[in-house]
Order: sequence, then C-alpha cells, then structure tokens
Amino acid sequence: MKFPEQIERFLCKVGLHDFRVIEVKFGFGGAGNIEVVECKRCEIAVTRPAK
Ligand SMILES: [Zn+2]
Repeated sequence: MKFPEQIERFLCKVGLHDFRVIEVKFGFGGAGNIEVVECKRCEIAVTRPAK
C-alpha cells in the first residue's frame, strides 16, 4: 500500500514504521533469534526478537 508522503511521515512519527528485515542474528542458549529491521521510509534501524 502506498501512502502520500505526509501520511508516511506521520506514521513514522507515531512509531508505525514500514519495517523490512535486513539481518537475522541467531540466539544461543535459548535466548531466541534477534532480527535487525529497517524502516523503508525513514531508514531507522532497530533490533527485535524474531518471531
Ligand atoms: Zn519509519
């Protein structure tokens, strides 16, 4: 889905980023995997537990 730029900026501002996975880090000892995701719009990168 494509939004107007103003709406995309608003969505990022309220934390609704359009993430894509750029890297998956495998956890050890039952820690679980971590994925590094980056927003396609504002390019913020965060890590989060992989599903
Ligand atoms: Zn964003």
